[in-house]
Amino acid sequence: LSATDLIEPQRICVCVRKRPLNKQEVNKKEIDVVSVPGKGALLVHEPKQKVDLTKYLDNQVFHFDYSFDETATNELVYKFTAKPLVQSIFEGGMATCFAYGQTGSGKTHTMGGDFAGKQQNSAKGIYALAAQDVFAYLNHRRYANLDLSAYVSFFEIYNGKVYDLLHKKAKLRVLEDDRQQVQVVGLEEVCVSSAEENVTSPCQTSANANSSRSHAILQIVLRRNDRATTLHGKFSLVDLAGNERGTDVSSNDRSTLVETAEINRSLLALKECIRSLGKNSDHIPFRMSTLTKVLRDSFIGEKSRTCMIAMVSPGMASCEYTMNTLRYANRAGDL
Ligand code: ADP
Ligand code: MG
Repeated sequence: LSATDLIEPQRICVCVRKRPLNKQEVNKKEIDVVSVPGKGALLVHEPKQKVDLTKYLDNQVFHFDYSFDETATNELVYKFTAKPLVQSIFEGGMATCFAYGQTGSGKTHTMGGDFAGKQQNSAKGIYALAAQDVFAYLNHRRYANLDLSAYVSFFEIYNGKVYDLLHKKAKLRVLEDDRQQVQVVGLEEVCVSSAEENVTSPCQTSANANSSRSHAILQIVLRRNDRATTLHGKFSLVDLAGNERGTDVSSNDRSTLVETAEINRSLLALKECIRSLGKNSDHIPFRMSTLTKVLRDSFIGEKSRTCMIAMVSPGMASCEYTMNTLRYANRAGDL
């Protein structure tokens, strides 16, 4: 992919990213069944060896706005996905970028970056890259006269409840007023003056937390420096809960089943909202889940932009999940 491949940002952009096989998978001689045969295409193919799992393995090609193979860096993925949306929030828009996929497919690596290795060599994720650009734009002469400040909030949605990750995991209420404005009451919004202080804590939190069962949402909010600190634009970056189904959860544990049902419900709601947005429909079913409720602003209005990055693991053992992820992403983008 090169700069000339960049298309004008659409209301909806759906992409797919394949991660490399990891060491353990290589040691286990896991077979790579995913390839990127061309721009925007992704192929899930049958392995050469005859294996009992073939019933899951269709030789199937999917098409997206962009497809990234295992050699793509976070910077490259960022450039084609979230970066165009940063500009849109300076133009007064509401933007969202979702990382979707099974646990272990690379959502947190892509969004929060990788903090597993040495700090200096760690790969920056979309949170940090977007924050950097927000600060660059704040100081750019094109936008300086807007007199804006940037604020950050960071929260998670677990079992339909909102917890403030910048404030002792305080449990917060979601309220909708008569004008259908949705508010997360008491959500900490930190005014930040540099990219570094901006996202260091969220990146580390997301890397450390065992967060595969919750949605993590980093919001970068632009406000005018007037007395009411009027909202100008908002960018929500969402590291979604793992999309693996309850069917393979062997546990009969009630709380796990409730958890899974809630995750499925919110991911279904999200798909429906993105589809409605793509069709310019008047009815956006945002009330279906807490996730879509708190993102309501982003689904409404002329200037809303959404980008979904579907993450897939390359191994044959993950094939069924990979197919589920690709079908979901296809439906969301109505491709
Ligand atoms: P998820 O958040 O979807 O559960 P992670 O982002 O935690 O998955 O990724 C699982 C593991 O795979 C991590 O150790 C991560 O560092 C690694 N990984 C994911 N994507 C990539 C990538 N594109 N390149 C290298 N390593 C990756
Ligand atoms: Mg994760």
